Amino acid sequence: MNRMAFSFDTTYKGLDPGLYSPVTPKRIADPEILLLNDGLCGDLGLDPADLTADVLAGQDRAEEPIAQAYAGHQFGGFGLLGDGRAVLLGEHVHDGSRYDIQLKGSGRTPYSRRGDGNATVSSMLREYLYSSAMQSLGINTSRSLAVLETNGTVTRRRREPGAILVRVMNSHIRYGTFQYVASQIPTELPRFTDYVIDRHYPQLHATDRPYLAFFDAVMESSIGMVVDWLRVGFVHGVMNTDNMSIDGETFDYGPCAFLNYYDEGAVFSSIDTDGRYAFGNQRPILRWNLERFAEALQPLCSQSALTYEELEAKLDEFADRFDARYNSMMRRKLGISSDAHEDLVDEFLGWLRDSNADYTNTFLELENPGTFDDPAFATAEFERLQEELAAVGLNEGLMQEVNPRYIPRNYLVERALDTYLESGDLSTFNELLTVLKDPYSSKDVDPRYQQPPPREFDARYTTYCNT
Ligand code: AMP
Ligand code: MG
Repeated sequence: MNRMAFSFDTTYKGLDPGLYSPVTPKRIADPEILLLNDGLCGDLGLDPADLTADVLAGQDRAEEPIAQAYAGHQFGGFGLLGDGRAVLLGEHVHDGSRYDIQLKGSGRTPYSRRGDGNATVSSMLREYLYSSAMQSLGINTSRSLAVLETNGTVTRRRREPGAILVRVMNSHIRYGTFQYVASQIPTELPRFTDYVIDRHYPQLHATDRPYLAFFDAVMESSIGMVVDWLRVGFVHGVMNTDNMSIDGETFDYGPCAFLNYYDEGAVFSSIDTDGRYAFGNQRPILRWNLERFAEALQPLCSQSALTYEELEAKLDEFADRFDARYNSMMRRKLGISSDAHEDLVDEFLGWLRDSNADYTNTFLELENPGTFDDPAFATAEFERLQEELAAVGLNEGLMQEVNPRYIPRNYLVERALDTYLESGDLSTFNELLTVLKDPYSSKDVDPRYQQPPPREFDARYTTYCNT
């Protein structure tokens, strides 16, 4: 028994009791640690020896966990939600930083509605892998401390062992948490907003308009996050407002996937039949979500100097601010050092749309012509663009920092998960995890890690929520 593994100081419990419910995680006999993230232990100042399976599975607890209440627009419709299969074990403080330690798959809570509170082992391994890959790609993300297999069986599309993921974030506060406060306890909104500013944007207290500056900062960090997704070909899959972090952390790796063949309409989630969260729709959806966030801040307008017109004026800046960051990112991917040549960037994007070439490999081919034996790169049009880019001075140093060599190719992820489910062997999974830990440098590994699947695979590939 070691109750000192985490240094908890859970400030969320000092907030209005309407914001959370105390929850006891489900009883689990003999949980088994499948993965423990040593690098993250180091960042959190934790000794892996203290992190027993019972501590990680919430069986051996220093304090009472809570489930957090929130609301959200799911596929456009508003609802009251909350952690239905997760609990906040506590806020761990290390070196002046505060981290939420959350268990996902830990059983039912007052917010579970009809759900069973459980998670399958394949979906928790999947989240561990994606969050680790995103972190290594340099993208702001939730992190995964551990995956534990439980003794129960969880039935989704197939019967599988259950699992718990130990998830770490700066906080789990979402746009949807503000929507909850605004709709349920609006008089609490100033106090809650001050708390979030303290926690994530403390420097803003010193500005003369902290609430307006807060909205601006959330918009900026969210833009940075989505531009990063577009940089690496990430499709989040379920950008509901309850899955939008107030701190720009990518999280909730449910039906997410990576693009192989460039397609702005790419959708993989089984329930996203209208393509609301398609790859190329992530920019307009972010704007839509920010509008809902601005509406949630409306109760502040009657309780402070903030006006709704000021928030609308900020929203009007969205297109220019997003595009400036997107274009600068795309220029770096193309190795263009100057601010000019926007027409060349547009031409290149046009070629990508028409050719449906592999998104990741296209930029590696530009950097090192002849790397891939792909007919898309043998066309006159691609060669012409290559020459034009060379003429403006291809800066390979810039390119290497932003163009990954290795991404979690969907078919390789599925193969690794299937191998584990079929044989209990994690070695395929661990090998993929290792390759993805250092995605920007060339490695002497199986060339398959850089290979897109047959086009039919992607056309049929489907991902699922709540698995
Ligand atoms: P998500 O689509 O993962 O963002 O989930 C939306 C909401 O459904 C959240 O409030 C989750 O906590 C809840 N939820 C998802 N799966 C389950 C489950 N198996 N049991 C209970 N609640 C769930
Ligand atoms: Mg969610």
